[in-house]
Amino acid sequence: MVVHIQIASEAGACYGVERALRMVEDAAKTSPVPVHTLGPLIHNPRVVADLALKGVTVVDSPEESAGDTLLLRTHGVTPNEERRARKLCHDVLDATCPFVKKVHLAASRLYREGYQVVVVGEAGHPEVEATLPHAPGAVVVGDASEVADLPACKKIGVVVQTTQSRSNLERVVSALLGRAEEVRVVNTICDATSGHQGACAELAARADVMIVIGGRISANTKRLTEIAAELCPRTYHIEGADELDPSWLDGAGLIGITAGASTPASQIDAVRSAIEAAI
Ligand code: SF4
Repeated sequence: MVVHIQIASEAGACYGVERALRMVEDAAKTSPVPVHTLGPLIHNPRVVADLALKGVTVVDSPEESAGDTLLLRTHGVTPNEERRARKLCHDVLDATCPFVKKVHLAASRLYREGYQVVVVGEAGHPEVEATLPHAPGAVVVGDASEVADLPACKKIGVVVQTTQSRSNLERVVSALLGRAEEVRVVNTICDATSGHQGACAELAARADVMIVIGGRISANTKRLTEIAAELCPRTYHIEGADELDPSWLDGAGLIGITAGASTPASQIDAVRSAIEAAI
């Protein structure tokens, strides 16, 4: 049987991640003082480990980077963390993705206009935590079932974690409609996320096996795995080529590959080569 391997038409490192990686590589080469990232620069443990080999370490607070160069992660940091970083560090490089900044601006504008801000996203995720201080009193809603817990209010303003799926946003908004006189939605799901998800669904609907590559803590990779698994029961999420089990591929005519937004092209190539070697 001829086995085909196909990579989703949109997969892997997005604009925000490529920008952050360029910034950190430049800083590692040119900074006269040690370089750190505030939290993991991106949610890909293998990339973070490669950066550590180049001397770039992860710190948990600006205080740990006093006098050094500090990169603010792609998912964003709180205004308080940024203020402390600018006061203490030799240099602060803001690698926050511009699409994440759009969420902050939208939350802050809705707050100023008197809306009760609702952030549709994962409570505790760094992006969501960095968004909340921009709209004091904002609440996080993970899915429609959590809407019933919200206090009644006149005006609700919604922003969305950039990596959420559109279908979850639609379910939450529909549940919110009965809870306020006015519901205003600023759809801040980023283009890379929706592009990756659409391409993943298109391929998973045809594939016998789907391999999803990306960090286990990466929100957008987890979402791709969920989307693929709904359409292709033989879906496997791996962080790298060494986790591939050749028995997963038994009898497959079409093997699909997709990858989260924090997965560099080199990791996709390595998995493709491992699949070629296994079939
Ligand atoms: Fe930016 Fe979107 Fe990439 Fe997140 S997934 S870093 S928001 S481009």
